[in-house]
Amino acid sequence: MAITNISVIGAGTMGNGIAHVFAQSGHNVTLVDVNQDALNRAIATITANLARQVKKAAITEDDQKATLSRIKTETQIAAAAKSADFIIEAATERMDLKREIFRELDANAREGVIIASNTSSISITELAATTKRPSLIIGMHFFNPVPVMKLVEIIRGIATTNEVYETVRSLTEKAGKTPVEVNDSPGFVSNRILMPMINEAIFTLSEGVAKAEDIDTVMKLGMAHPMGPLQLADFIGLDVCLAIMNVLHTGLGDDKYRAAPLLKKMVAAGMLGKKSGQGFYKY
Ligand code: NAD
Repeated sequence: MAITNISVIGAGTMGNGIAHVFAQSGHNVTLVDVNQDALNRAIATITANLARQVKKAAITEDDQKATLSRIKTETQIAAAAKSADFIIEAATERMDLKREIFRELDANAREGVIIASNTSSISITELAATTKRPSLIIGMHFFNPVPVMKLVEIIRGIATTNEVYETVRSLTEKAGKTPVEVNDSPGFVSNRILMPMINEAIFTLSEGVAKAEDIDTVMKLGMAHPMGPLQLADFIGLDVCLAIMNVLHTGLGDDKYRAAPLLKKMVAAGMLGKKSGQGFYKY
């Protein structure tokens, strides 16, 4: 099926970026959110990000206008599902919410329409099982900020067909991104490797091996990471880091994935990183 109309469910940090890149690659995008303010903020963010691209001469003013004209907003999931040739869900990371959204999308989308999820940690196979079209459910994991980051992890659920994988792979390439094929497993590849590294940096800090700044300097200057693991944890949000460690621990059943006690303590204290003003650093 030719993919012309794409519906993006959830207009937060990730949803606005996903709408941006699909509109820029020539698709008509319907951006959906239950919250009208989130939709207004998303359009303002996309407009500002496009303006930045014009300033850097990455795109022309005509491209900017054409991209914006291809995006419309909607508050009803059912309406957006009916008109879509492809759907990607990027709503809040909660299993109960995503189950509900997938049921509604499945009930309203045309037969044969692929439904993807941008989830960071929820099982694609489990989401697929809430629908009557498990072979058409797939993970499409973008990275923040979406217009800048080149990678998309494409996650195959247990029932995802090769044809569906190939369609999503070519859509990813058309959007100017590099796809990587991943089988459904807790944390996929990205968080399976990144989060235990961050967690280990937190153990290293709490055992007094080195100060936060020094741990980050080792990884920046010694390993050429653009940002140290503790600063990165602050940017991601310590609550998000803890939730992902819990997914790895529960899903893989190995105590090597247990969350660092200091991480739990900081989350309990409301020290969530950049968004709360205090994490391993002050903001
Ligand atoms: P966010 O909180 O910025 O945005 C989520 C949006 O979903 C909100 O605007 C909310 O109003 C909306 N929403 C909630 N219920 C809805 C519903 N029933 N229908 C439509 N919209 C609804 O979250 P985010 O950071 O953009 O994350 C979205 C998804 O992307 C999550 O699954 C997350 O795991 C994943 N993800 C996030 C990042 C990241 O760095 N933030 C990276 C990769 C993947």
